[in-house]
Amino acid sequence: MSSSNLSKEGWEESEFPILCETCLGENPYMRMTRQAHGRECKICERPFTIFRWCPGRNMRYKKTEICQTCAKLKNICQTCMFDLEYGLPVQVRDNILNVDAGAVPQSDVNREYFIQNAEKQLADGQHYLEYQGADSAAKETLRRMARKEPYYKRNRAHICSFFVKGECTRGETCPYRHELPTEQEKTKTNFKDRYYGNNDPLAKRVMEKVGERVQLQPPEDPTVTSLFITGVTSDISQEDLQRVFAAFGEIRSVVLSHAKKCAFVNFLSRTAAELAVEKTYGRLAVNGIILRVAWGKPRKQGPRSELAPAKPGHNAPTQAPLPPGVAQEKAQYPSQDPTLLGAPRQ
Ligand SMILES: [Zn+2]
Ligand SMILES: [Zn+2]
Ligand SMILES: [Zn+2]
Repeated sequence: MSSSNLSKEGWEESEFPILCETCLGENPYMRMTRQAHGRECKICERPFTIFRWCPGRNMRYKKTEICQTCAKLKNICQTCMFDLEYGLPVQVRDNILNVDAGAVPQSDVNREYFIQNAEKQLADGQHYLEYQGADSAAKETLRRMARKEPYYKRNRAHICSFFVKGECTRGETCPYRHELPTEQEKTKTNFKDRYYGNNDPLAKRVMEKVGERVQLQPPEDPTVTSLFITGVTSDISQEDLQRVFAAFGEIRSVVLSHAKKCAFVNFLSRTAAELAVEKTYGRLAVNGIILRVAWGKPRKQGPRSELAPAKPGHNAPTQAPLPPGVAQEKAQYPSQDPTLLGAPRQ
């Protein structure tokens, strides 16, 4: 396990890195070099301990890219920044668990303050992540998506740029790979985007690939015809959702809250809703933003149905459009309703 301490300057000094199995490599006896305050963390920009090692034969040297605090805050590997438990990109994990990816501030001043506090809490042995409280169905989805074995191919040497131009003269002795890059390998890693889960192209590919394998069971109650969409940022308008989902059948209403980053898409028929889930679950991207799709909940008895504004005594049915006068955008969700904060239970 890892241990890290702070030096006089408040910089991290650690004895062992936090790594996933893939980055660690097959050879348990590999040697690791360690350089205290060797470089700045790619996220918080503070100096931290850099580790370098070779994860196996014909593999490239790897090094830690982000500090231990930044890694712990997201429960990710210090080198590849994949989630330590599921081996998936942060954006995929947070999307499916419906955890707020924006928890670590991205502006310098706020982040510094946040990280200092977080370090105190981590030092006290507190768990920083809120993933424990995440929906169990969502966790199960992640488990099904997770890679079961380490993926050592990811550690291979980089592609030889001279070979690509037809200019490498080193032949067999060239330490780089003589292959043409795939589309995937042409995309450069943007550490911050991957860390914060902002439009990570890798996350998008994982979602597309996995979406074909993982299917969502429709709720037993046949009256449920609404989908619950999360991750809806201000880049996405009600019209965008309307346009995307109209392809599956007639829509009764789309209710969107940018404040809650979620929306409900209510179909007229169950068939349309099922088709929409089948076609979009795990692979919905609108304006380049990955969205999470889940089924809406069955109609509840009483005034607090999920689409109704929090008006005591106002008994709006779940799938009715909002009453006139309530702007779609500013639909008031019952703020204390925990089911709205987490993913809906299936
Ligand atoms: Zn850091
Ligand atoms: Zn890793
Ligand atoms: Zn070469």
